[in-house]
Amino acid sequence: MERMVKGGKKIILTQGDITELSTDAIVNAANEDLILGSGVAGAIRKKGGPSIQEECNRIGRINVGEAVVTGAGNLKAKYVIHAVGPRYGEGNEDEKLRNATWNSLLRAGEKGCLSITFPAISTGVFGFPKDRCASIMLKTVLEFLETQETTVKEVVFCLYSQEDLEIFKKALEVII
Ligand code: ADP
Repeated sequence: MERMVKGGKKIILTQGDITELSTDAIVNAANEDLILGSGVAGAIRKKGGPSIQEECNRIGRINVGEAVVTGAGNLKAKYVIHAVGPRYGEGNEDEKLRNATWNSLLRAGEKGCLSITFPAISTGVFGFPKDRCASIMLKTVLEFLETQETTVKEVVFCLYSQEDLEIFKKALEVII
C-alpha cells in the first residue's frame, strides 16, 4: 500500500524482514544501551556483521526517544538509525514513541537520505499495542513530511507479519 504526501513524497507499507530492504536507512528498534539483542536488533546484528555493534559501543548510551546513526555493515542500506522506543507501561509512552520516530527522520535528513524504513518500534519485546503504535508513527511521519524541509522523499514501514501490515493499513486509511 502506498500513499502520496504533499511535495511528491510517499509513505509505503510493506511486509517482510527489514534487513532485506535497500532504502538509504533502516531503523533499528534499539534499547538505551545500544546493545543489539533480539527482534529487529538481532536480525541487524546477524546480517549486518559486527561493525554495527562496535559503532554502537563507541556511542554508548542514549535516552528513550532519541536516535543515533551508524553504518550498516553488510546490509543493503547505507545507514542504520538506532531509535529507542518506550517500554509499554513506563509512562509518557506516546510522546516517547513520537520522539523516537521524529528524531529518526531528522537523523535521516542530516545524512541526506532519500528513503528510510521503519519497523513497528516498541511492539515486540517492549509490549506497545500495535494499533496505537501504527497511529502514532504514521501521524508523526505525515506531519514531518508535510512540515519539514528534508531530503527524505520515501518513508517505508516494514511490518513483520501480514497481520501487522493490516493493522498499519487500517491506521493509514484513517489518517490519509
Ligand atoms: P522493541 O524492543 O522496540 O519492542 P522488537 O525488535 O522486539 O523491538 O520488535 C519490534 C517489532 O519488529 C515487532 O513488531 C516485531 O515483530 C518486529 N520485527 C522483529 N524482527 C523483525 C525483522 N527482522 N524485520 C521487521 N520487523 C521485525
